[in-house]
Amino acid sequence: MSDKAGSRWEKNTWAELAHLAQNVPEAGIHFQGSYPPHSFSKQANQYLEALIYNRNKDHEGPTGQWFNELLSTTPWFKDTVPNFRILPKPYPSGIDSGTSFTSVCINTAVYLPYLVSQCLSNGVVFKRCILTHISEAATFHHSGQKADVIVNCTGLLASKLGGVMDTTVIPARGQIVVVRNTPGAMFTVSGTDDGEDEVCYIMQRAAGGGTILGGTYQKGNWESQPDPNQALRIMKRAVEICPALVEEGRGIEGLSVIRHGVGLRPLRKDGVRIEREKIGGTWVVHNYGHGGWGYQGSYGCSQGAVELVDEVFRLKAKL
Ligand SMILES: Cc1cc2nc3c(=O)[nH]c(=O)nc-3n(C[C@H](O)[C@H](O)[C@H](O)COP(=O)(O)OP(=O)(O)OC[C@H]3O[C@@H](n4cnc5c(N)ncnc54)[C@H](O)[C@@H]3O)c2cc1C
Repeated sequence: MSDKAGSRWEKNTWAELAHLAQNVPEAGIHFQGSYPPHSFSKQANQYLEALIYNRNKDHEGPTGQWFNELLSTTPWFKDTVPNFRILPKPYPSGIDSGTSFTSVCINTAVYLPYLVSQCLSNGVVFKRCILTHISEAATFHHSGQKADVIVNCTGLLASKLGGVMDTTVIPARGQIVVVRNTPGAMFTVSGTDDGEDEVCYIMQRAAGGGTILGGTYQKGNWESQPDPNQALRIMKRAVEICPALVEEGRGIEGLSVIRHGVGLRPLRKDGVRIEREKIGGTWVVHNYGHGGWGYQGSYGCSQGAVELVDEVFRLKAKL
């Protein structure tokens, strides 16, 4: 979740994600949450709900800082997403407060190919290569001419790309477990007692994509392989906070694991970079450094990048 400063990008994305969840099943996005009861019981399973649980003791740690806005009872998004409310007591053990709202969950294994198809049907030409310098991108225009503008969406590797070398972009490592169990719930807890960079969240994906159990938020950690001990802790915490994940009394033995995964969130010290800059005589529009909200802010950020591309063309027209 972006902070207040970055909220423009997410605010301008919600309507499109809601539209896709409502009207475009092939995009692999569904709503999580509508008028649910606040309950951990199995009887609540017919409801899908995004629940955010706050532990006051997490506030100063890395996960509390990361979730700062998400944990607020007056977050910037309270009038953007439907059904925002502060949860009444009683809370589960160790929880100090909570909120709930209607959210979406994206099955990225379906959504990303869907986006590629949309691009192809709109005439986009895809090419695959490794760039050592951002300026090289201009030579890949399908017309054979040098491109007028490059849009730089290189995420974490903006830190290593020639001409950009933004060393303020670092990984925030996230480890997850994908399971077949479908509790019909979306939970986030602000922290855990297992380590200051570990959190607990559960999201059920659309289109039979199983459920994601998270996670970690490890700044500066480039490790791409899952840690088995971390995986055990993730599963244990998930079953503790949401017993409805498994048959009664089965504990983590009741989880059916599809796969373990690790991703590196592209975290930028000063927040996302949506700016234009001339590099080696060619205009570059940057759009990188989205940390843990790249999907949630995607349409808004793209809109910002398009505005800058339009500015470049207006500048070129004046010359
Ligand atoms: C565990 C986890 C949970 C997450 N949960 C959420 C969530 O709930 N909501 C949300 O919105 N986001 C979430 N995110 C964050 C989200 O995944 C990222 O913000 C998003 O993927 C960033 O997209 P991007 O296109 O900027 O970067 P990327 O997806 O990393 O794409 C960058 C691309 O640039 C290419 N590239 C880089 N350098 C070069 C080069 N030199 N030459 C050629 N190609 C290059 C790369 O190959 C890559 O294809 C999560 C991430 C993780 C890891």
